[in-house]
Amino acid sequence: MRWADRLLGHYLHSVFTRQMRFELGGPVALPEATQSGPDVLYIHVPFCESLCPFCSFHRVLLNRDRAKTYFRALRGEIRCVAERGYHPSVVYVGGGTPTALTEELCETLVLVRGLFPVQQISIETNPNHLREEVFGTLKQVGVNRVSVGVQSFDDRLLRAMGRYDSYGSGEQIAQRLFEAGGRFDTLNADMIFNLPGQTAQSLQQDVHILRDLIGIDQVSWYPLMTSRRTGSAMRHTMGAYSLENERLCYDLIRQSMGDCYQLSSVWCLSRKSGLVDEYIAADTDYIGVGSGSFSYLNGVMYANTFSLRRYARLIDERGSAITALRPLSLRDQAYYDMVMTLFGLNMDVNTLQRKYRGRLHRLLWKELLLLRLTGAVHTEGGQMRLTRRGQYQWVITMREFFTGINNFRDQMRHQVRAELDILDPPAGY
Ligand code: SF4
Repeated sequence: MRWADRLLGHYLHSVFTRQMRFELGGPVALPEATQSGPDVLYIHVPFCESLCPFCSFHRVLLNRDRAKTYFRALRGEIRCVAERGYHPSVVYVGGGTPTALTEELCETLVLVRGLFPVQQISIETNPNHLREEVFGTLKQVGVNRVSVGVQSFDDRLLRAMGRYDSYGSGEQIAQRLFEAGGRFDTLNADMIFNLPGQTAQSLQQDVHILRDLIGIDQVSWYPLMTSRRTGSAMRHTMGAYSLENERLCYDLIRQSMGDCYQLSSVWCLSRKSGLVDEYIAADTDYIGVGSGSFSYLNGVMYANTFSLRRYARLIDERGSAITALRPLSLRDQAYYDMVMTLFGLNMDVNTLQRKYRGRLHRLLWKELLLLRLTGAVHTEGGQMRLTRRGQYQWVITMREFFTGINNFRDQMRHQVRAELDILDPPAGY
């Protein structure tokens, strides 16, 4: 690993650790929507049929009764979001495994479509849910993008991740993905690179399966991103985590997929033009609902409680489950906007200048200068575009951003540990 990449990683780690210092307390009411309001609604469903050792998301083992209670509260929170005047048109359902209880998910999406002018619904799922009856139900409620957690097709790695028994062998997963092709506007595979024990050959084989055998619409290639706690738990099951090979893996993926796929964010490759990565939006504001979800509204980050019990109770009693918030300084807001916008490869400097009333260069002079000096961006006609060199720098940036979020999740989950230890076997925490 190059010293400059390492240095950048350390610097960003400290930036995002500082930005993730939330004020705890609450509950706090969701602010009333402003006229423009965010377009994106994120819905969190934390239930999974088994828990993967590398995963730092807010997730618990599926229990039908608990999940039904949760979905009831979730619908309550969605109604409250509508009452506060929000009208999002893009819906993203993540988890966890949102399709773990399809009937509850669909009831929730019917409600969402009744309340908001929905144009796009994207959901995450796992390979064992790629079944005819699930496709039909999802299509009926308007789902048009499905993102499947594959991670790898290598049986050795799937076994190490504890996914082989739950979600099938690499060959079975590839077959299911192939059969799911063409059912939705976009079928995306979520893959991981830089897993412990992952070789160049294994990664190349993954690319071959996705590109040549399945011909998948889109692939999101995530670098392995662990929180402190998950990293140490993972060491026992998968081996030690290191950043040494991250860049090599990224370059290999880019070279192998490059001829048939185009980059739509620094780690998302799309076969057709017009497909977007789920995290890319013109406006960086969004509303999150569900336990452990985040919202970003007018320069303030909000987080819902990570306790499932408290979540249901707070929604019942108060209509909001926000228990932590973090107002960002104007500089941090501009920095956040720059990070999120360049994640999508291209930043319209004039738009951000208008948003920050002409102060963008004053607020971010160090960052913008550094981007130019290191050759990370190319500017032309008010458009700042990541260069090939800058694209990997942004992988580091996003990795450290999500690691900061994962460490915050660790902290929050630790606070409700007694409850989560009952829900999950402690090793999965
Ligand atoms: S990676 Fe595994 S534990 Fe994490 S959300 Fe997906 S299925 Fe659940």
